[in-house]
Amino acid sequence: MPAETIVTELLNLIQGELSGSAGEDLSSKEQRALVIGRVAAELSLAEMLESDGDEPVSVACECGGTAKSKEREGRTVVTLAGTHGIRPRKYVCCSCGRWSVPRDVSLGIGRGNYSVGVIALSSEVAAGFPFESAEDFLARRFSLDLCYKQVQRLAERTGEVLACQEKSVAADAVAERVQIISDERPPLLVISSDGLMVNVDGGWHEMKTGSIMSEYGRSTIATMERAEGFGQLLFAEASRRGLEEADEVVFLADGAAWIWNLAAHDFPDAVEIVDWYHAIQHLWEIANACHGDGSGRAKSWVRRNETRLMEDGVEASDRLDKAVAADGRRKPTHKAREPALLQYQLQAYALHNVQEPRLSHR
Ligand SMILES: [Zn+2]
Repeated sequence: MPAETIVTELLNLIQGELSGSAGEDLSSKEQRALVIGRVAAELSLAEMLESDGDEPVSVACECGGTAKSKEREGRTVVTLAGTHGIRPRKYVCCSCGRWSVPRDVSLGIGRGNYSVGVIALSSEVAAGFPFESAEDFLARRFSLDLCYKQVQRLAERTGEVLACQEKSVAADAVAERVQIISDERPPLLVISSDGLMVNVDGGWHEMKTGSIMSEYGRSTIATMERAEGFGQLLFAEASRRGLEEADEVVFLADGAAWIWNLAAHDFPDAVEIVDWYHAIQHLWEIANACHGDGSGRAKSWVRRNETRLMEDGVEASDRLDKAVAADGRRKPTHKAREPALLQYQLQAYALHNVQEPRLSHR
């Protein structure tokens, strides 16, 4: 449709909507305005696609020969400005026999049926809503006719590409091949991490999660990567949150060995703190090892030292140290963790007494 015809059609449409809107409420006027915008976008895009659909019968091939076209390949592309049919020419080279569809390359859509705008929008919506809700939302708000399976496929493919990019950036950041610059200069940056079991494809696997908090807000990551890959991702995200510039970095976690190995490796300058819940779990491990599993003596030992730890902070762990050392009947079981490590962790906890940092949340 030539530009003049588009203008005439739009003029008619606008005049019709304007005269029809007299006396209507704001919502109705708003809907009419949006219709004008959508029709203008669809007609314009249709014409843009139409006008560069005029392809020559023969083009130069990469091999130096000539590629000729006898046929076109009709297909539809879904865009944010309507669904359109295109008929790009298919060429075959007379010398090397190679097939090519140069229009797909120039449009940048490869063999897909969706514009980059549609892929980005549906992926973003699907990141925040279940796929069925995303389907409904995209249809209502953007007149996009995508079933939830399509939304899922687009979102998962986008996720794969983004995850791949992020992993590569994270590995480069840890190896100091690239430096991540942040605008944030937090006085205190708290990094915390945990692992939890999730059921994926019929089996239980550990998902590793990390949370980074400062007065600028909170960001979180979750991945099925192993510890090393997770550590790299956590480091990259912490770098974006001002790791380099932070006055103090605290690493808060439970007692899992892999987490503390990771903290020591990727965040060597961070103050390591065992969270309160797990600190108490460690008290129980010591008590059970010294006094027998779940015994009355173990219970009262935990009660006594729990209060000390909460009330006295760092002094408590000194006394705890003496209490453990003075206990002649101490016979650690295989379940007990290394007492020295526990002492260190408890002391670290008591020193800072950080349980729930008072931080703004994004
Ligand atoms: Zn060729």
